[in-house]
Amino acid sequence: MRRRLIAGNWKMNGDRESLAELDGIAAAAKTVPDVDVAICPPFTLIERAVARQPALAMGGQDCHAGIKGAYTGCISAGMLKEAGAKLAIVGHSERRAAQHETDPQVKAKAEAAIAAGLTAIVCVGESEAERDAGQAAARVEAQLRGSLPVAGGDALVVAYEPIWAVGTGRTPSMEDIGAVHGLIRGVLRELLGSERAEAIRILYGGSVTGENIAEVLAVPHVDGALVGGASLTAAAFAPIVAAAA
Ligand code: PEP
Repeated sequence: MRRRLIAGNWKMNGDRESLAELDGIAAAAKTVPDVDVAICPPFTLIERAVARQPALAMGGQDCHAGIKGAYTGCISAGMLKEAGAKLAIVGHSERRAAQHETDPQVKAKAEAAIAAGLTAIVCVGESEAERDAGQAAARVEAQLRGSLPVAGGDALVVAYEPIWAVGTGRTPSMEDIGAVHGLIRGVLRELLGSERAEAIRILYGGSVTGENIAEVLAVPHVDGALVGGASLTAAAFAPIVAAAA
């Protein structure tokens, strides 16, 4: 039985004052002991976030594939770990688009995160043009095959985030989410074997709110959610956490 995971991605939002939101989020998490709850704040807030709410898992929103070196502006998985992070999101569509990250780069980042002792959340998802062209499944499958580490441990989570649903208030139909999550489970079985594939959580992400989370979580092979905008306040995030119980 896979434990549900509700992970918040603060993106480039939040400051020290925003950490007060973690108190309400941690309180909500405490009421659902069977659910894993995590927040991925900006790098600069991770250590303070951990100090403020040590029982809440914190994560980075990216990491470099290398251990150290001349990579100005980058952060290694080991640095995240030292700051107290438990997870790292890799391959978010905003980074694939704006930083031109490729599948092999995302795979290397996921491997680095796992090697550092973090859980890697590997994001995949199609664009609107790809969905309209009937290529959503092929796109997601190609991203999975290109960016999923197959060796090195099972501290791995897949997040299906259709690009056109991220931050837009739009979501796919529950049938479409189910079809892609089923496809992802099938590819995981093929790449990792049945036993490992069954243990890996597949999150849905893209305009998840307190209003739609219940129906999203009812879809087969949806093991939780990656939440952007609605993770920024305890008022918006706590209902999502509660619904995962
Ligand atoms: C995200 O940033 O991964 C995300 C899903 O954002 P939102 O929930 O705002 O669509």
